[in-house]
Amino acid sequence: MIDSHCHLAGEEFQPDLPDVVARARTAGVTGALVIIAADDEEEYERAAVVSRTWPSARFSIGVHPHAAGRFADDPSRAAQLVGDRVRGCADARAVGEIGLDYHYDFAPRDVQQTVFRAQVRLARHLRLPIVIHTREAEDDTFRVLQEEADGLVGCVLHCFTGDRAMARRALDAGHYLSLAGIVTFPRATELHEVAKMIPLDRLLIETDSPFLAPVPHRGTRNEPAHVVHVAAAIARLRDTSVDAVGEAARANFDRLFNP
Ligand SMILES: [Zn+2]
Ligand SMILES: [Zn+2]
Repeated sequence: MIDSHCHLAGEEFQPDLPDVVARARTAGVTGALVIIAADDEEEYERAAVVSRTWPSARFSIGVHPHAAGRFADDPSRAAQLVGDRVRGCADARAVGEIGLDYHYDFAPRDVQQTVFRAQVRLARHLRLPIVIHTREAEDDTFRVLQEEADGLVGCVLHCFTGDRAMARRALDAGHYLSLAGIVTFPRATELHEVAKMIPLDRLLIETDSPFLAPVPHRGTRNEPAHVVHVAAAIARLRDTSVDAVGEAARANFDRLFNP
C-alpha cells in the first residue's frame, strides 16, 4: 500500500530517514506522497535526499495556508515559487498542501484565499492534481474549488475529518478523500461512518507523518509504516480485507500521482 501524505523531508526525519523507509518497506508500504513546503528552502533541498533513499516517493509542493501571510504583498509570488519548485523536482506530481485553515488563522483569511486560488490556477496550468488542507473553512474551500474547477485534473481532501454531509459534498464534486490515523480512534464515530460511505475508487490513506500517530502508536512520532493501521481500521469498518483497502488506495494513488 501507499502513504498518500507524509512530511518525510521534515527535520524530524533527518536523524534516521533510512530506518524509517526500511520499516515502511518491511510493513508493505511501497511508496508515498511526500509534502514539501515551497517556502521552506531546507525542506525543498531534503526532497532530493528522500528521493535517493526511497526512489518510489513522489512529491507534492505547495504553500500551506499557515504560510500564506508571507505572500500577502504579492500572492502571485506564491504560485510562481511553487511553479519553480515543481519544475525543479523530477518526481513532483501534485500541488499541495494548499487550502484554508480558519482554526489557527495564522494568515488573514482573504490572503489565505488569494494564495490558495493562485495555486489552484497554477495546478490547472501544469495539469497536476491538488492536495487540499482545509480546517473550519468548508464553505470557502468548496467555493474556490468550484470556481476554479474547469480543467482541474484531480483534487484530494487530505486528512479528511468532516462529517457525512461534507463527504457527500466532496464526492459529488468529484474529489478524493484521504483518511488519516484519526479513523483508528475509537471515539471518532462520525468519521467511521464516513469511512464506510467513501466509494473505494475515491479513497486514499495517509499518515500525515510526523503528526497524528494512529492507535496503537498515539503520542509518538508518526511514520509511513503506520499507514497499515489506517488501512486495517477502514477494512474492519467496511468488513473487507486490509489488502482490498490498500490495493484500492494504491490504484487511486497511481491514477492521480503516477499517470
Ligand atoms: Zn494538512
Ligand atoms: Zn500535511
